[in-house]
Formats: sequence, C-alpha cells, structure tokens
Amino acid sequence: MSETSCEVGPTTHNASLFKEGRQAYHGSCHCGALKYSVEIDFLTNKSVRCNCSFCTKIRIWEVLVKPEFFKLLEGQDSYTTYKFGEKAHSHYHCKHCGIRCHGFSIIPDMGGDFIAISINTLDDLTDEQMSSLIVQPLDGRNNNWFEVPKFHNHL
Ligand SMILES: [Zn+2]
Repeated sequence: MSETSCEVGPTTHNASLFKEGRQAYHGSCHCGALKYSVEIDFLTNKSVRCNCSFCTKIRIWEVLVKPEFFKLLEGQDSYTTYKFGEKAHSHYHCKHCGIRCHGFSIIPDMGGDFIAISINTLDDLTDEQMSSLIVQPLDGRNNNWFEVPKFHNHL
C-alpha cells in the first residue's frame, strides 16, 4: 500500500539497491545541528521535484512520508520556519547553515499531511542509490499535484 495516492510506475532504475518495505534512514543539515530519522520505502515512495515559486528557487528534491514516520532527533532550537502564500507548507531551515532538511505540508488531494524530506540531506543513502531514484516533477505552482509541468528539466 502506497503512502500517497499519486504513486504510479517504478520509483527507481535499480530496485535491487533497496530492500522491500519501509527502512530507517538518518539525515542531517550541513553543520549537524539538525538530526532526524525517517522511515521511507523507496520502492513505493516517489521522489519529486515541485515547480512552485519556493521549490524552484531551492531546486527541491524530496520524498513525502506521513508524519508518524519522521522524528526530529536533535536541533529543536536550531531551526527556523518559513511559510508563504496560503501557508499550507512549512519549510524548516537550520538557523546556522541554512539547509532545509524537511517541510510539512497539508495537501488534501494527495491524502492529507506530509513530511517532505529533502533527499540530499539523507546521510544513509549511497550515491548509487540516490542516482537510481526516478524523479517525478509536480505542478505544485498550480496545485495540480497529479500533472507533470510542461517544462521541468530545470527543476
Ligand atoms: Zn545546520
């Protein structure tokens, strides 16, 4: 059973690089003030890039998980929160190094609330694993979460 309702097709070019089911991963910001753990099933959870005004500027690359699978381990006092527009999305940045490890979104069309993990902040994935992930572009700019934007190679 997938965690979001828009998951179709393969999530990786090389499924043998991942175990079946949710696996525990650890992540952190650049300076190490923020540390988190998260459970992700990369065989069912697509990696996504979004074309909204914020995600375009930071060239976001993330995977969405339900909040119960995320735990902030360190850095409760070290992050700052950014919201914009209708404030449906919160982005958490480290106050010291500026890295965004995760965000929180409520997207009713996609099944409710999500933690959006910045994949590049995961410390347990090998370059080979990251490189094998298939990227799904999302038209977040138009709240059109099931459409691929016409132009997306730059995302
Ligand atoms: Zn930091």
